[in-house]
Formats: sequence, C-alpha cells, structure tokens
Amino acid sequence: MSKTDRTRFVISNVKVIGEWDWTKPQKCMVCILEIKENDDVVYCPYCYHPAHREHLLEWLHVKGKCPHCQHPLREEELLTSLEGMF
Ligand SMILES: [Zn+2]
Ligand SMILES: [Zn+2]
Ligand SMILES: [Zn+2]
Repeated sequence: MSKTDRTRFVISNVKVIGEWDWTKPQKCMVCILEIKENDDVVYCPYCYHPAHREHLLEWLHVKGKCPHCQHPLREEELLTSLEGMF
C-alpha cells in the first residue's frame, strides 16, 4: 500500500477512531498506526494528542475538528512540539 493509498483509506474511514491509552505507544489519531521517531508529527492544542501531519491535515480538510477531542481545529493552531506544554 503506497502512502497515497493509505491517506485515501483514512479519509474514507474517518469515523474509525480507537480508544486512547497513554500507557501504550503513541499512535496517530487518524490512522491509529504507531508514531515512529522520525515521523512528521503534529499535536492537537486542546488535548495534546499526536497525529501524522499529513493525516491530520487531510482530516481537518474534511472534518475541521480534532478526531479525538472533537474541538474545532484549524491547521494554523496545530502544535509541532509539546515541549514546555506540561
Ligand atoms: Zn497517521
Ligand atoms: Zn485527545
Ligand atoms: Zn484534540
């Protein structure tokens, strides 16, 4: 499955979101795949959960809100790091 195919799959299945569990490895809020060290990650500024940048931007294009906390969300608000947030 190519990267493009996967994004399309995510968009056509936008309702499928798993339960969040901080004790497990960090997973993208959109594709539910584990986030790897060198992935391009962004964070919701309201619930601080991570997602692949590419996936969350596609999601926001369709839904306009965080897939986890459902807070209305714009691309410009996304955090690129959680440093200093806690
Ligand atoms: Zn993802
Ligand atoms: Zn969240
Ligand atoms: Zn959120």
